[in-house]
Amino acid sequence: MKLAILGAAGSGKGQNTCRIAKHYNLHHVVVGDIVKAEIRNKTDVGKIMYAYTSIGKFVPSDIVMDVLASQLNSFPSDEGFIIDTAPLNMDQYHKLMQLVTLDAVISLEVTDYNVLRRRTLNRLICPVCRAVTSVAESPDNICKQCGATLEHRYDDNIETVNFRIAQYLRETVPVLDEFDKLGKLIRINADQSKENVFSEICQKIDKFFAEQKTKK
Ligand SMILES: [Zn+2]
Repeated sequence: MKLAILGAAGSGKGQNTCRIAKHYNLHHVVVGDIVKAEIRNKTDVGKIMYAYTSIGKFVPSDIVMDVLASQLNSFPSDEGFIIDTAPLNMDQYHKLMQLVTLDAVISLEVTDYNVLRRRTLNRLICPVCRAVTSVAESPDNICKQCGATLEHRYDDNIETVNFRIAQYLRETVPVLDEFDKLGKLIRINADQSKENVFSEICQKIDKFFAEQKTKK
């Protein structure tokens, strides 16, 4: 199972990706973590990446997708993965599709962007085990899974949330349309409760791969 998951900030990507990875026994590949690891390990490509991030610029898609693809292609062929979060724009899409074959892309779709804004501003993240929760669910600020102190993401504020939503609509939605044309898009209604979102994901993934099998 070779998957990617996309969705606007606050659509529940982090949380659902963790659960999908566990449920289907997939490698959970976080693109941002790969970049950070290269920089931290001061690899050749990490030094190039640092040259961009240290002046507040994004690392070019070509470089990020190369590193992502080499990690994905390093997994044994019988082991699946889920990419969180790429390809985010058409540049990344074209580059990644030359290097990796994806079976399906899960799209977490939200109709009310005010819900996204509220969710993002209330979001708390565990720096240790990566659990994602909210101020309402964890008023004591302690991670229920590992006991660490929860944090807000440094960029979870209204300006960046609005910027991310606009960027998602402009750059990522065209990528979803491409996967849709290929018959590889699994659309999920992310307006529902957490449990309903996750069970819709599992149902649709199971159905998608069952249909793939009968096609072969
Ligand atoms: Zn934790």
